[in-house]
Amino acid sequence: MSNKRVYLFREGNATMRDLLGGKGANLAEMTNIGLPVPPGFTITTEVCTEYYQSGKQLPTGLLDEMKAGIKDIEQQMNRTLGGAERPLLVSVRSGAKFSMPGMMDTVLNLGLNDTTIKGLIAETENERFVYDSYRRFIMMFSDVAFNISKHGFDEHIFGAYKEKVGAKTDLDLNAAQLKEVTELFLDHVRKNAGREFPTDPLEQLELSVEAVFRSWNNDRAIYYRRTEKIPDEIGTAVNVQSMVYGNAGDDCGTGVAFTRDPSNGDRHMFGEYLMNAQGEDVVAGVRTPVPIDELEKQNPTVYKEFIDLANKLERHYKDIQDLEFTIEHDRLFMLQCRSGKRTGPAAVKIAVDMVHEGLIGKDEAIQRVSGSQVDQLLHPRIDPASLSSAKKFTKGLAASPGAAVGKVVFDADTAAERGLRGGAGEKVILCRDETNPDDVHGMMASQGILTARGGKTSHAAVVARGFGIPCVAGAEAIKVNAGAKTLTVGDMVVREGDLLTLDGSTGDVFVGALPLIAPEVSGSFGELMTWADEARTMKVRANADNPGDAKQAIEFGAEGIGLCRTEHMFFETERLPIVQEMILTKDEKVRQAALDKLLLVQQSDFEGIFEVMGGKPVTVRLIDPPLHEFLPNYETLVREEAVLKTKIEFGQTGLEAKLEETTTMLHAVESMKESNPMLGLRGVRLSIVFPGLVVMQTRAILQAAAKLIKQGKKVLPEIMIPLVSTVNELRVVQGQLQAEAKKIVAEQGVEIPYTFGTMIEIPRAALTAGDIAQYAQFFSFGTNDLTQTTFGYSRDDAEGKFLGRYADLKILTHNPFETLDTIGVGRLMKLAVEEGRAAREGLKCGICGEHGGDPESIYFCQELGLDYISCSPFRVPIARLAAAQAALRGKVKVAVDK
Ligand code: PEP
Ligand code: MG
Repeated sequence: MSNKRVYLFREGNATMRDLLGGKGANLAEMTNIGLPVPPGFTITTEVCTEYYQSGKQLPTGLLDEMKAGIKDIEQQMNRTLGGAERPLLVSVRSGAKFSMPGMMDTVLNLGLNDTTIKGLIAETENERFVYDSYRRFIMMFSDVAFNISKHGFDEHIFGAYKEKVGAKTDLDLNAAQLKEVTELFLDHVRKNAGREFPTDPLEQLELSVEAVFRSWNNDRAIYYRRTEKIPDEIGTAVNVQSMVYGNAGDDCGTGVAFTRDPSNGDRHMFGEYLMNAQGEDVVAGVRTPVPIDELEKQNPTVYKEFIDLANKLERHYKDIQDLEFTIEHDRLFMLQCRSGKRTGPAAVKIAVDMVHEGLIGKDEAIQRVSGSQVDQLLHPRIDPASLSSAKKFTKGLAASPGAAVGKVVFDADTAAERGLRGGAGEKVILCRDETNPDDVHGMMASQGILTARGGKTSHAAVVARGFGIPCVAGAEAIKVNAGAKTLTVGDMVVREGDLLTLDGSTGDVFVGALPLIAPEVSGSFGELMTWADEARTMKVRANADNPGDAKQAIEFGAEGIGLCRTEHMFFETERLPIVQEMILTKDEKVRQAALDKLLLVQQSDFEGIFEVMGGKPVTVRLIDPPLHEFLPNYETLVREEAVLKTKIEFGQTGLEAKLEETTTMLHAVESMKESNPMLGLRGVRLSIVFPGLVVMQTRAILQAAAKLIKQGKKVLPEIMIPLVSTVNELRVVQGQLQAEAKKIVAEQGVEIPYTFGTMIEIPRAALTAGDIAQYAQFFSFGTNDLTQTTFGYSRDDAEGKFLGRYADLKILTHNPFETLDTIGVGRLMKLAVEEGRAAREGLKCGICGEHGGDPESIYFCQELGLDYISCSPFRVPIARLAAAQAALRGKVKVAVDK
């Protein structure tokens, strides 16, 4: 830690964001490049840390350093703090490393008291302006230093006063009236602070600086940091700066502007200003500001000067700038510049445009755009203009991005019947407590999915992301009553057929139909993606289970399929009974007949996928989930049996056959019931107990491949065995399947370039990767299960039940189902890659868990040296960009403004 606590603006620069905060560093930079910035100094973020470490005490010696800073400002401005002539007034503003707009405190016009008021009136000959400044100062200062609410001053006292004298806006009040208001304000302070309003400017300054430090930990700021993932420890700096006045007359004004349009990236100045006003009037919406173009008519000289300065700043920082300015008696001052927050479409357009304008290189353009910004380009969005009047229903987890509008339905069959993607062409939202594999047909027919339970890797979330259907999961405030067909949150009730709008990118759910904006894949976006492809070294594949998804994946630039979950093919309505027959029968012949029927349909599925993929690698995973997932729900069967028995007892006839059928099914389901199905008979274990199923799947894959090869087409199947924990499992199952494969090749009489590999999704597999690689020709990390089994957290329950609390208590810094836990899970992966490749040179390693679409996790995959990442089709462009950024990391340095 340095000893210097206070930096004059001319002593800092733009690289000192850690120490001076974003605002302070930029004020210093603007000062040094010769822009008209009112002089001032910055108290460092380290002082904030010191303040908290010492039990909220300003460090000794700080006041002396501040006094020296004030002296410097006084000299530059030829003014004196507390002076009877030409008094100096200053502003005190927060400014952390990352911008946290409006979250912390600000005090303007500091330095006013009875003496300086007189001096300022004498100097400006504008009594009205002085009292207007004073009433603002009393209000802001008391709010932050004494915790006396602004509203009490503004709405109650000031509002009542304006009403009493018949003034519409503050501009209608004269000097005497404003003076009266300041007296009312001072009285209010006396009553509520238990002391007089401080008159010593240095005391005012100390109390304000302390209040700004305190505001680092107000509820708003804490909440904002949590949502924006800004660390709590970094603290805020405080900027003390000479005031300039936008409210000192009609030749004064203040405004904010962006150097380009932050909503679409168009290259024109975008902003607003107000004459005879102070900054907070523009921000707070007290008066309606005027578009910046008007300034050209009102004051062409100042306008031209402003445009020149704005362009200079944009060229200097090589990024869109968000500017604050003040005009004091026709003189322009720059009060702030920072890199402008922008939407996804704007981020892409600005980055690409700036490459064409020669401002930045392609590598830097790639680094400028975030995954979530690209995501905005790929899904419909709620029209932001409609949000202010929207009626919020609830909020859940943002489980699958995009917005959807539709009528509420409560079961998958109804969704499939009515749904747009299904038959009848209505737009429906499927609302369930949680979904299970029985619901897939209804989910596919829906515009959106809403569940009351389950996390971001719950069934609903994974399936929805796979299909690109917006989903809000784990909205725990909702009570779903599927019987009564109602959704209830508090006293709000939504019934079947009512319209809902959900936003899977934010987790918000609204009552009624809000207007949506279609995704825009503009020319700039395509260009940026091409540059990303040139820069990256890892391949990008997609998780896709059917030809439609495979096609979508190719359109988004996928270079193969990293995970084809074959069980999804079994859930389709006409197939499920065959699957059930195969599972339930005790008769081997009946089982074989069912398998033969499934062979035909699976083969045609694979033909479809191989055809679309045109010779690109396709990793087909053999059946993985526990078999009972294909059977009717146990509890439902118990209920049905009880109802049937009661009806028969009460004399109803003709139900005996139904009862027998239900009881048989119940016994069968019961015999397969497991206490922990996720740790039970699934994955490779299933293949060992019921080998017929995977032998059939291998045959379906290779026969499909042979058929296409005979047509002269290219096919690259990779057969993947899931949930292996010991090499012996792989040896047994792969041995059997290899034998079958050899048989098929001989039958077909063509060479098929197939390989066998495994998923690494159990810690033991990672720990024994060297042994496993003796058999496996490739590894694919199933990080959903690997996270589940490494932490011992149920992936279906953890997010809804305790991960939120873990985040609050900082037990975990992020959700490990969303972003790879590089410390634990990542260590297992590293070991597996190293030992796997040591045992088998050039072993192909990829990832197909949900983390394969998460930029932070992708950076780690690059470090591990994975060959490819695989994610749902709609995340492919994000993965392409993130893979490029990962490859470029360390190559180019960019300042990232959060
Ligand atoms: C995984 O576990 O990461 C995986 C990809 O498999 P699934 O999600 O189907 O269990
Ligand atoms: Mg898995």
